[in-house]
This record gives sequence, structure tokens and C-alpha cells, in this order.
Amino acid sequence: MKVINKVLFAVLTFTFLSAAQAGDSVATLGDGKADCVSKAEMQTIAQHFSQFKEQANADYCYDGSHVSNLISSIMFMRKTTFSKMTPSKDELFTGRFASSWWDYFIGRIDTLEIVDNCPKGVVAYVYGFGLRTMFACPMALTDQFSSLDRSSVFMHEARHIDGYPHVTCSKGPRQGIQGACDNRISDGGSYAVTVETYAQLAKFAEGLHPALKAYSRNAAAIYADEAFETPARVARTENLLLLTSALDFHSYNVRTNSVEKLGKAYAAGHMVRRSQHMVMIPTDKNLKAQYIFARNEGEIPQSPSDLITEYNAQTPTEKANLVDLHIGAQWTARVYKNSIRFACDPKSPATTDLQIPNGQASSNLLYPNGYDRAAMVANLVTTTGEMYDISCAGKTASIKASQLKLDQRYTRMYKADGQVFGLTSTGNLYKLDVGRSAPVVTALDGSIIEIMPQQSFEFFETN
Ligand SMILES: [Zn+2]
Repeated sequence: MKVINKVLFAVLTFTFLSAAQAGDSVATLGDGKADCVSKAEMQTIAQHFSQFKEQANADYCYDGSHVSNLISSIMFMRKTTFSKMTPSKDELFTGRFASSWWDYFIGRIDTLEIVDNCPKGVVAYVYGFGLRTMFACPMALTDQFSSLDRSSVFMHEARHIDGYPHVTCSKGPRQGIQGACDNRISDGGSYAVTVETYAQLAKFAEGLHPALKAYSRNAAAIYADEAFETPARVARTENLLLLTSALDFHSYNVRTNSVEKLGKAYAAGHMVRRSQHMVMIPTDKNLKAQYIFARNEGEIPQSPSDLITEYNAQTPTEKANLVDLHIGAQWTARVYKNSIRFACDPKSPATTDLQIPNGQASSNLLYPNGYDRAAMVANLVTTTGEMYDISCAGKTASIKASQLKLDQRYTRMYKADGQVFGLTSTGNLYKLDVGRSAPVVTALDGSIIEIMPQQSFEFFETN
């Protein structure tokens, strides 16, 4: 019996479909700097992967094809260099997969095969039982799936050659998803490799674009939190990120009631969470929605999700119809002015449209219990202040009157470091305690346009 070990990216709503951009502030794919690979390099690669012999008679220049993207990922594995590496004090990084990624990969994989069809969300797989072929799915090989991501996937797949099949998650954000968990990170299975490779890139890669480093940092934390039956131990603190009308990010320290200025946002707008990632949906509907980082890290070209790809392809008028977006681990909700489009089944593209009850219009989502990737319910406020629970529980879309009662109107509500914070349309921040609002007074009072919890990880923060 053959066992397929799939990388289930669908669970993370990973989709990389947006048009690649050029420009100084945009991180380029992987190796980035060179558009061509030297003949000598190609011959070295073809020595192991004989399938590339034809391409190894001359310099090879990237052309955006599937083969080109495979070669670009191999080059990323071969050429990315790292500063002196030390293990983390927690479970993010041990360094046990840190020596040459190329040697590790070719020690286990002899053939790369591009396949035409894969189940939704699967990017690559291997069979067990001594077959040293890695199968790459079309989704993995578009220009918009970065060489950085692919190199992490390749390392993950190579680990399967040593064994280490996945299990079905019994709890957490990926509950019930076959092959989406390993038991524990200390076992050193394929998801441990995923965490380690992203953590290594984020912390130690030399010359890697800061936005790609920030992206990798988030990716390491997401897998550490979501892909293990026993979640990995990751030392972190959580603050509340504030965005002001001057487009400055500030970090509000919940414990000390102090504010620290960070970087600039590229636009005003509404930020939504996709797990550890932040996505900006600009107020200016001529601008595109994309990943945003708070410390001037710059931009990355890949689309944060298929929902954002869809959004970016719309006209400004169509874009203006979207008022909020929920991205959970297994469900999403596109909140439009008069309806909500639910996608409740992570294995299917099917959606359900429900009207906002009583002819009302959506205002925004609130997260009084905190943004939780595993939660099946979010709270919707209408323009008249009515509260609803929106849900995909049992894979069934619903909008029901909420029991939630608040003492004033909020445009945002999140939990940070265990405390509930609300933002009003007048730019004022409040702390909520058993439904009661108390003002949080800072120098930014009245100028705050967006709030969001933000975690920082000891391993990435310290030298
Ligand atoms: Zn796997």
C-alpha cells in the first residue's frame, strides 16, 4: 500500500497567485539577484538531477516556467548562506537540519517530477517505501510561490524519505484534517523541518530581503502553533499594534501602558489577520491588498490568500463592497455590505451567500474573545449597531443574533496579552472588562485608525 504524505497548505489558506511585482521595495523571489544560472552551476545540478541535462549545456535563464521555478528553488537551497547559528531556548530552532540543505535534499531525493493534478491545496508529495522521487504540484510552481517557500517544502518532503508520516490533527486549528499534524516537534518529523527551515531563514539568512525574513518568522510561528498535536514551545510576548492616521505603526505595551513607534504603513485601510500574518486592505480602492509588516520591512509580491487575489482583480467599485474579511484556519467569510460569502469546507471551493438579516448593512467584525484561528464564530456589527454571530460550525454557514452586549459602538475589537481592547470610530482606545469600557489614554488618543494584536518571538528579537 502506498502512503502519500501531503503537505496540506490548504489548511493555511496558502495560495500564491498574485502577479509578481518589480520594484525596489519589493522582495524578489528567493535567489533574486541573478536572472540566469551559470552553465557550471547547471552542470552541478544536472549531475544529481539528470533530468536537467538538457538545460545544462549553457547558462540557464529563468523564464517563469515550471521547470524554471524548480531550478530557482534548487538555487535558493544551494546558494542561501547563513550567519553563525545558535539554537533557540525554546523549540523553534535546534539547528539539526541546518547544515547544507542541498546535501540533505540530494541525499534523499533523486528525481523531481512535475504533476498536472493534485488535490486542492497540495503543493508537493513523496511516496514512502524507498521511492526517491518528489512530486511537485502545479500550485507550487507558479511564479507567485516563492523559491523560499519551495525550498522549505522540498526539505519537508525530503524528510519523509526517512519515514515520519503525518497524523490527523485531533484538536486545534487543523482539527480533523488528515496529514496536517505531527505528534510533537521534538520528534523531528517533516513539520519540524518546516518550522526549522523558516526559523533559520528568518533569523540567520544572509542578504535575504527583510520582508521575506518577516514573512518567514511568521511562517515558522504558524507551523509551530498549528502543525503539532502537542504545540511547540515558543517564547513570545503579545502587544497591541496601533496604526495612526499619519500611517505610523506603534506598539502598545499592554503591561506597561507605554507606546513605541515602529515603521510606516503604505496606505490607510483595514488590516485583517491571517494567522500570524497581517493583510492590509487599503481604503483607496485603486491600491492592492497585500501582506503588511510593521517595521518598514517592505513588501513581498505573493498574494496572502486566494481571497486577496480575487479582491485585487476587482474594480474599485467592486472592492468597495467588501467591508471586512475573516480568515480562519478552516473557514473564511467575505463580509460584504449586504451579505456574507462563507467558505466553510477547506477541501472544497464551494461558498454560501447569506443576506444580513432584517435588511441591515454590515459595519465590521469584532473579536471580543480574541482572533482565534480555530474558533468557528466571529462577531458582526451592523451599521445600526446590531450584533450577530457569524459561523461555519459543522461546515454550515449561519448568521444569528448574538448574545454579545457592549456598552458602546466599536469598529475593532481584539484581545492582546489576555486583555480585550476596543477602538471607536473617533480613534479612541478602550480596555474592556466584563463588558465595561474604560479609556486607555496615550499620546495617540483620537488618531488611531486600526488595532491588531501582534506577537514577537524571543528567538527573533534577541541576538
Ligand atoms: Zn508532509
